[in-house]
Amino acid sequence: MRVLVVSDIHSNIEALHAVLGHAQRQGGFDAVWCTGDIVGYGADPGAVIDALRLLGATCVCGNHDLAACGRIGVNDFNPAAADAAIWTRGALSEAERDHLESLPLIARAEDVTLVHGSLREPEWEYLLDHEGARAQFERQQTPWSIVGHSHLQFICIEHPEGPPRFHMTSDGEEIMLDDTRVILNAGSVGQPRDGDPRAGYMLLDTGMRIVSWHRVRYDVARTAAKIRAAGLPHILAARLFEGQ
Ligand code: ZN
Repeated sequence: MRVLVVSDIHSNIEALHAVLGHAQRQGGFDAVWCTGDIVGYGADPGAVIDALRLLGATCVCGNHDLAACGRIGVNDFNPAAADAAIWTRGALSEAERDHLESLPLIARAEDVTLVHGSLREPEWEYLLDHEGARAQFERQQTPWSIVGHSHLQFICIEHPEGPPRFHMTSDGEEIMLDDTRVILNAGSVGQPRDGDPRAGYMLLDTGMRIVSWHRVRYDVARTAAKIRAAGLPHILAARLFEGQ
C-alpha cells in the first residue's frame, strides 16, 4: 500500500493542496495518514479538516488540535500560538470540532504506530535526541513508528550496540526499510522549520518497504495574506516565508 504521510498542516490549505498534487504526480497513493496538528496557526482550519475527512485520512490528535477543540487549555502555548488556538476554536463548525475531539492520541495503521509527539508524551515531546528515541523504542510495539511535532524530516534507526541514529533527510531522499526498527517524521506541510519554506511530506510504500521525503512549493504569499486578513498574529504569516 502506498501511503501519503502528512503532519503539522496547521490550517494551511494551499500547502496541503500542493502536497496532494505533488504526491499524485509521484505515482499517487492509496491512503493518507496524518500525525497531528491539523489546525492551529493558519487561517483555514475548517477547509483542512474537511479535506482530510474527504480523503478518509487516519489521523491522530496534536497539541494544537486538542487546544482547538477545548480538550486542553492554552497556558502551555506561546502567545502567538495561544491567540491562534483561541481564534481557531471560534472558526470551527460544531461538526469540525467534534471531529477533532474524536481523534485518538495514538493510532495504528497497517503495522505502523502513529503519534504526534512521542509514545511517552503524545502531546508535547519533541522527539529529537537519543534519550527520547530510546524511550520511544521501549514503548513501540510495531517495527516502524511515525511522529510529528518538531516539523523536521528525519529517520531514526535503532542500533543494537549503540545509541539510535538520527538522520535528517533531504528532498527526494529514498530509504529502503527492513526489520530494523525505525522512527520516521514526515516534517511539516504547513509550517516547515528547517529554513526551507517548501511544504514537506513523506511517501511510505508498506509493501515495497520504501520511504521517501519530499518538498513542494506553494503560494506562501496567498497563505500569509489570509493569516493577516483573519487578524491572526502577523508573525505567523512572516515565518512562512523563512521556513521558521
Ligand atoms: Zn505542529
